[in-house]
Amino acid sequence: MTLRIKWLRIPEMVNTFKRGLKLPTRKHATEGKAVELVPSPGQVVIPVNQHFGAPNACLVKAGDRVRRGQKIAEGAGLMTVPVHASISGVVKKIEMRTQANNAEGLCVVIDAGDAGDAGEFMPALDPFSCSKEEALGRIREAGILGMGGAGFPSHVKLSPPPGKVIDVIIADGAECEPYLTTDEAVMTEKPHLLIRGLTIVMKITGVKRAVIGMEDNKKNLIPLMEREIRLNGEARNGNLDITVGLCRTRYPQGGEKMLITALTGREVPSGGLPMDAGCIVQNVGTLIAIAEAFDLGKPLIDRDLTVSGGACRTPKNIRAPIGALLSRMPVEFMDVDLEHTAKILFGGPMMGNAVPHLDIPIQKNTSGIILMTAAETLADPEGPCIRCARCIRSCSCRLSPVIMNDSLNAGDLDYAVTAGLLDCIECGSCTYVCPARIKLVQRFRVGKQRLRARQALEKAAAAQQVSGAGSQTAVQPAPGAASGRGA
Ligand code: SF4
Ligand code: SF4
Repeated sequence: MTLRIKWLRIPEMVNTFKRGLKLPTRKHATEGKAVELVPSPGQVVIPVNQHFGAPNACLVKAGDRVRRGQKIAEGAGLMTVPVHASISGVVKKIEMRTQANNAEGLCVVIDAGDAGDAGEFMPALDPFSCSKEEALGRIREAGILGMGGAGFPSHVKLSPPPGKVIDVIIADGAECEPYLTTDEAVMTEKPHLLIRGLTIVMKITGVKRAVIGMEDNKKNLIPLMEREIRLNGEARNGNLDITVGLCRTRYPQGGEKMLITALTGREVPSGGLPMDAGCIVQNVGTLIAIAEAFDLGKPLIDRDLTVSGGACRTPKNIRAPIGALLSRMPVEFMDVDLEHTAKILFGGPMMGNAVPHLDIPIQKNTSGIILMTAAETLADPEGPCIRCARCIRSCSCRLSPVIMNDSLNAGDLDYAVTAGLLDCIECGSCTYVCPARIKLVQRFRVGKQRLRARQALEKAAAAQQVSGAGSQTAVQPAPGAASGRGA
């Protein structure tokens, strides 16, 4: 058999999608900076539920000794991933704490113990000789989820239902949010693990073609990727086609739908998923975590993130154990100008969540923490809509934000859904361009929450009706029973 070896093709054209925004990138403060390891934290606060799916249950209690890498929470459903201790120490308490999404959630607080205890990982597993089930089981056991922000369990993403034909894997290294440079840093420092993770995912799914998508402000990384593809044995021997797809630096290029359109020319249908366009998209950090789960047996217990913004005196890319708190980092490592901090964001300035203080734990999907001064934030009060349609022109999902907003203001949730509420990727472009400073994306998030609450109520009511009907049936006398007649 002749092996067809395909080396990286230097892309000749820059891909893009329609609409979107040209934003000031503000990446200069951390661009090109090496990732610095957070000095051993004295304590971590690990949220028990960090994934999109059914809740986990705690496996430890206060007073228990735990080792780095030990599983401390897990759930039974398919849509769950376990959580592991990110440092060795003693469980101080288990309590409700404010998390990055601003909601209260159960957290395991661990006080650091012996700093020399490296912990316990799973044994290494060869992804190229184990079965698909074993490989997916390893990814789940390692607690891996989408590190780009969504928090969707990776083993579920890699298990498309029968009938869905996937022919392209996309490694998402676009990193279109201003300030954030984490993906660029990990691609620079761990390109071998990125390609390794990509080939593992290709082996699991049986897909032969992959594209590493990145914005054209990172084209200096192409030679590095080229070298790693050439060196990676599995990419050669498996007859795989791995290329780099350069995309125009345009927000929200890192969104799955935009990246798929830019790199393949395909469109994810309304209400659909990337798999409906034949694609699986994985963040570059997630692919690296997958490689480490097989080669080192390491669960997802550390993550790289950018800490930046005008109120951060020491902007840098850092590697932190999950559950680390910015408030506990030594000032010589992380110096925050609290007096001039007007806004703290977990995530980027466009899609991140504003949080009230620095005692919020870093999670598996925290790509950055941005500390903004008043001059960096838009604090103008909302004015009336002037019907300028800028929000419509900026929306890369081709929605009509102004109509969705009018519907929500009128309490008409159903019309907002008809107008595309569920197709909104919450990119915030419409809010950014709105001259009336209307908090459009914030309304859409609340609208989706209301919709979910309504659906839950409807489901509960339907279940009650069924059980009511059942109990009614149970007390209904059988024909003839009242007369005492037997069957
Ligand atoms: S937040 Fe939603 S409606 Fe607004 S631009 Fe983004 S996708 Fe469109
Ligand atoms: S951009 Fe703002 S002011 Fe203009 S139509 Fe949209 S909501 Fe109204």
